[in-house]
Amino acid sequence: MTPVTTFAGQRVALFGLGGSGLATARALIAGGAEVVAWDDGAEGVAKAQGEGIPTADLREQDWSGFAALVLAPGVPLTHPEPHWSVRQAQGAGVEIVGDIELFCRERRAVAPGAPFVAITGTNGKSTTTALIAYVLRQAGRDVQMGGNIGTAILSLEPPDAARVHVIEMSSFQIDLTPSLDPSVGVLMNVTPDHLDRHGTMEQYAGIKERLIRGADLAVVGIDDAPSRAIADRRAERLVRVHVGAGPTQGEGLRAEAGIIRDAAGADLADVNGIGSLRGAHNWQNAAVAVAVAQALGLSADEIRAGLASFPGLPHRMEEVGRRDRVLFVNDSKATNADSTEKALTAFRDIHWILGGKAKDGGIFPLVPYFERVAHAYLIGAASDAFAATLEGAVPYTRCGTLDVAVEKAAQNAAASGAPEPVVLLSPACASYDQFRNFEVRGDRFRGSCRRSRKNGFSAP
Ligand code: ADP
Repeated sequence: MTPVTTFAGQRVALFGLGGSGLATARALIAGGAEVVAWDDGAEGVAKAQGEGIPTADLREQDWSGFAALVLAPGVPLTHPEPHWSVRQAQGAGVEIVGDIELFCRERRAVAPGAPFVAITGTNGKSTTTALIAYVLRQAGRDVQMGGNIGTAILSLEPPDAARVHVIEMSSFQIDLTPSLDPSVGVLMNVTPDHLDRHGTMEQYAGIKERLIRGADLAVVGIDDAPSRAIADRRAERLVRVHVGAGPTQGEGLRAEAGIIRDAAGADLADVNGIGSLRGAHNWQNAAVAVAVAQALGLSADEIRAGLASFPGLPHRMEEVGRRDRVLFVNDSKATNADSTEKALTAFRDIHWILGGKAKDGGIFPLVPYFERVAHAYLIGAASDAFAATLEGAVPYTRCGTLDVAVEKAAQNAAASGAPEPVVLLSPACASYDQFRNFEVRGDRFRGSCRRSRKNGFSAP
């Protein structure tokens, strides 16, 4: 745990008692603050009380006595409208911060300059955060990973000159971190998403830009217009990362056809053949990780070795195993057409399991990739709509459930003449019609594949 000492002896209001809220309460109390915690749901309040964290309805408190309101990242700050606790804090002139702001202040107080990598972007945050942490760990560094991925930041070990914090940040978290000052700030990409919470694209991009503004070194993916503009506004201590052909502008790295090169054209790494880093989107993730690892002083050999053994994250084009020539891939995290597009471009001879609760636009954006699909297996509520889009272009079977789809797909793939057919779960849909979340859906797929083990299935 990282005790927060910067509010010692002060009263702090805390709203939102999920995992990170509870961790924040513990860290503030351990550092000597007087916490008053609350949540709109009874469950969080009960959990806090069970731990002995002081709770009280913040609506009934005298706000003039609070030094700050610490807000959980899921609680609306501005859009669609501010939460009541935000209004009360603003009305009383009380500053509003999140748990990562508390970490930043603690770092400045106890270990200024301690290595701190903060990562944001619309897509690829978790993969890149995990990849950076993995490469650093493989090279023997003491790494603490968390934030928007896995562990709440204040549950991690405290900042220290000999320890690297690798922290994924959502835009909600950046919004609550006014003095964010990582040693390395990473901005992967900025594409429209979460606009319901952030208003316009300009506002959303502006929040993302804040992550690199206070960074000692900025690493910016420049493959979309908003990110490029953000990079162009920063001249110094900047590494541009570009996926595709052509020269990198100024200092930077380029990933072309899976090969990562520096600005002088020297090869730094080749990710072709690394199963967990398939697809052009992963070239960006890998190139960003190379830039960060270089900045933290890893050698080219250490970086290459780390990339080569990266196991990948579950549910993101995860290789579940093989049966003879057939590869089974779990991409359950692909809850929209954009994400599924990445998987369809990474494979051929695909036996594609899709469906669930459809998003706007369905699978129309995927029509250009249908030639890579040998057969489609439909599950869940979107079956009728998706069948209509596939009609005449891709043979399909309505399977109803995921188990049936895996069975049929495995059979057809094994019977096909293709050299390496792929059974791919990449649903392009939310999971809620049949599963609690995408993780449960992916776990079910993995289980279904493993049940075929008696038929020669082998996990990697
Ligand atoms: P995030 O944490 O930002 O949601 P993840 O690393 O969990 O991102 O990846 C989620 C999905 O986003 C992946 O399954 C893939 O389809 C897609 N993706 C991953 N990396 C990138 C990238 N660099 N650019 C665009 N899309 C990506």
